[in-house]
Amino acid sequence: MKPHFQLIIALIAGLLAGITLHPHAQDPWLQNLSTHFLAPVGQIFLRMIFMVVVPMVVSALVVGVYELGRGQNLGKIARRTLLYTVLASTVSVLIGITLVNTIQPGKSFQMDSSLLAAQNTQVQAVEKNALAAKPLSQAVVELIPKNPLDSALHALDGEMISLMIFALIFGLALAAYSRKESEKPLLHSLFEQLFATCMKIVEYAMKLAPAAVFALVFNSALKFGAGIFASLLLYAGTVVLGLLIQQFVTYSILLKTVARRSPLEFFKNCREVYLYAFATASSNATLPKSLETAETKLGIPSRISRFVLTVGSTANQNGTALFEGITVLFLAQVYQVDLSMGQQIQVVLMSILAGIGTAGVPGGSLPLIMILLQQMGIPAEGLGLILGIDRFLDMCRTTLNVSGDLVIAAMVAGSETNARS
Ligand code: ASP
Repeated sequence: MKPHFQLIIALIAGLLAGITLHPHAQDPWLQNLSTHFLAPVGQIFLRMIFMVVVPMVVSALVVGVYELGRGQNLGKIARRTLLYTVLASTVSVLIGITLVNTIQPGKSFQMDSSLLAAQNTQVQAVEKNALAAKPLSQAVVELIPKNPLDSALHALDGEMISLMIFALIFGLALAAYSRKESEKPLLHSLFEQLFATCMKIVEYAMKLAPAAVFALVFNSALKFGAGIFASLLLYAGTVVLGLLIQQFVTYSILLKTVARRSPLEFFKNCREVYLYAFATASSNATLPKSLETAETKLGIPSRISRFVLTVGSTANQNGTALFEGITVLFLAQVYQVDLSMGQQIQVVLMSILAGIGTAGVPGGSLPLIMILLQQMGIPAEGLGLILGIDRFLDMCRTTLNVSGDLVIAAMVAGSETNARS
């Protein structure tokens, strides 16, 4: 059976069993089963992912930013790609954050007050490190790490963002330094291999996912009862709505104003690519199809499309960025963790960076979600809740990821033509 079907079955089984047994949640045998058997299964899975997060995020960002900043003979194209990528990702995350704050999918059920008290103690411990506790000026200064190794050590206690900033600067510097060299630098290959190895470990962890999803979802449903079900549906709806707005509103405006193309015609020409991205849930696997479409159907010059689409398949993931913002705030609502304005800004920043540092493979964004949750003091177990429906959301967000790459390629091509005329 395909892994994502196993996950859906684990989600449904965990939900049904947990909801059915919810009225008996305080029975000692159930407490024992939940604490001493199911919780450890979930924890082992989560730790397998946690352990690769630091090397994975650093290597992915260094490689992603290196590719964006390299621009040997492509100075202008690279700069425009970088600019449009950041612009599109920012809009995407803002749409997501606005929707999740308006719809509030995680608030549609009330957590029991005893659970809330237990939850609060857990959250307070992490909140000590949270950015919100400091004045804004200090928080901004601390985005720049004094010692990246120290940030790496404390990445899971709230210093991930400064480590990400370090990786960003490092990637740019590596690109600038190697521009004079004829070959790709050794460091680039090292980071690439480090990243590939980390992804392999995530693959191992995913083998445990069906059991872990059952365990995590069962425990949550046992705690929360049936209300969680409605919340999950509303959450999925919020993500899909956000993706549709970015696809049909933001991209239409960008295509019309910057690329000077008819959005409708553009979308029609990309239909096959969308289907491919939806089916594979992988930007990387869709790359050959997007390259072909860009050149044959959209008439984007190959020197532009090859660069923008190749880099974009890893470094421009608007759908992923939007999804990460919504997911973190949704789980904050579920666990009743109040995020201050400062923390929400941090979610926006990290989601944008996450869009750059996520692998273009199915489920590539999950390790990043864990970091964001940890950073905000939201229990990482929350991941179990969304894993069961993640495959569907992954298919949807990947379609936007790939669509965004094509839109940016068209914008870069369009602005070149505009500059010449
Ligand atoms: N599956 C996505 C992609 O390939 C990445 C993710 O959001 O998990 O674009």
